Amino acid sequence: MPEAPTLQPNDGLWAAIATRLRQVGDRTVIEQDGHPLSGHALLQAVQQHANALHALGVCLGDRIAVHADKSVTQCVLYLATLQVGAVYVPLNTGYVAAELAYFLNDATPALLVCGSSQVSELTSIAQAAGARLYTLDADGSGSWSAFAAQPHTPAAKVRVTASDLAAIIYTSGTTGRSKGAMITHGNLTSNANDLIHAWQITHADVLLHALPLYHIHGLFVALNTLLLAGGRIQLLTAFDSTRVVQDLAHATLFMGVPTYYTRLLTEPSLSKDSTRHIRLFVCGSAPLLAQTFIEFESRTGHRVLERYGMSECGIISTNPYTGDRVAGSVGIPLPLTECRVVDSNGTPVPTGDAGGIEVRGPSVSAGYWRNPEKTATEWRENGFFITGDLGTFDARGYLTIVGRAKDLIISGGLNVYPKEIECVLDTLPGVDESAVFGVPHPDFGEAVIAAISVRAGMTPDPAALIAAARAQLAAFKTPKAIFILNTLPRNTMGKVQKALLRERYAATFTQPS
Ligand code: AMP
Repeated sequence: MPEAPTLQPNDGLWAAIATRLRQVGDRTVIEQDGHPLSGHALLQAVQQHANALHALGVCLGDRIAVHADKSVTQCVLYLATLQVGAVYVPLNTGYVAAELAYFLNDATPALLVCGSSQVSELTSIAQAAGARLYTLDADGSGSWSAFAAQPHTPAAKVRVTASDLAAIIYTSGTTGRSKGAMITHGNLTSNANDLIHAWQITHADVLLHALPLYHIHGLFVALNTLLLAGGRIQLLTAFDSTRVVQDLAHATLFMGVPTYYTRLLTEPSLSKDSTRHIRLFVCGSAPLLAQTFIEFESRTGHRVLERYGMSECGIISTNPYTGDRVAGSVGIPLPLTECRVVDSNGTPVPTGDAGGIEVRGPSVSAGYWRNPEKTATEWRENGFFITGDLGTFDARGYLTIVGRAKDLIISGGLNVYPKEIECVLDTLPGVDESAVFGVPHPDFGEAVIAAISVRAGMTPDPAALIAAARAQLAAFKTPKAIFILNTLPRNTMGKVQKALLRERYAATFTQPS
């Protein structure tokens, strides 16, 4: 098979993927539960879905929101969205109705595709946002598939360019409100081509795809690279460590978050033998503990390749494919990505010093959707994006993340900003004030917990508070424990001392070392 198609600067991502799918022809490109789709079949399916979008009047720039379980059909809808120049808005399946109402009002999509079990709770929310509602379930059935299967007039050819929006990815906000990172076709193609090169992905690769499709890792890093390289994707609807170990026998590539690796290590059958066909294990979205890296290598002989990225930037840096993969480091910036470490004035610091990580390059997003104020505070005038992560470069150019400026908690690879959770807890009966923070957790890496002070004369029950918070928040954001204090500890400036709380409750889920 020839080299991956070189993109013209003005091409949309779909044009390149379609060229590759034509070359793949009758070979399988994606499969789920033993149902394979060839390159030709995928092209045909995407065309059908594009025709259906066209029939609904979806135009260049219209948003398509998807809050549905993972399926090949969802991948088809994603690709059809790219083909017609609409904007894909994946929404975490854990979000509850109150959270979804915010995203839909902000994105104002033409279409919301959700699981069939959610229709009753989402009908009025979709209506209020002006979105038509269709269903799609993990087995590919639903009103969307039925509509797409009807004969429709072929979609008119739309000229999609690199600067057109391809997706909006909502990231949690420090102010408690999520922001939508606007990702262009150019952002996606540039990052995917860089990764194909960095990780030497070819048409001979088979990716065992266990990541969710609502996050850039599973949607862009995994799908775009494999499709552009003409490889094969074996889609699992969810991560199940036992199933993954079995299926690794038929794959060459695996991508995961640290939680996947710690769970894989609990599988007795994980061994050098069960992973012998894999040529690369990739990890990212949260810090991979050196201990996990070492244990994984001693069990399987594979040094996990850790990379660093974020919704606004795509993948920023990666440990090398050939060369030294360093435990605890996120590797070297990708060739087209400028990455610098700066002091509080935005001046680059000497090698070895820690500072704020900033990123600029063709894969960095175009700003936040309908939020010029936030865009102005998080992008410098010279184009550098302020990641909010703290890091340091060593003399060999390896980047290590040493902290997070934004108080972010990463639980199971998913970001949680304390402010959003505090806003919910503070409205619950009896709660005077709350402080939400992350503590080590053996499975999730970090777990969300809260300390609260209570109103005079009230004695709220922590379990009831957790249940009430869960009604408004996705499970991964809901505190796993709530501690009641007389007053929250504060510094002389009156700021709640979260570092002290983190220390005090560090052993909530783990034994103190
Ligand atoms: P998201 O936008 O959900 O992809 O989250 C991006 C954030 O995840 C980054 O700003 C980092 O704080 C964190 N992150 C991603 N990859 C890594 C990694 N390999 N090590 C440590 N933190 C990471």
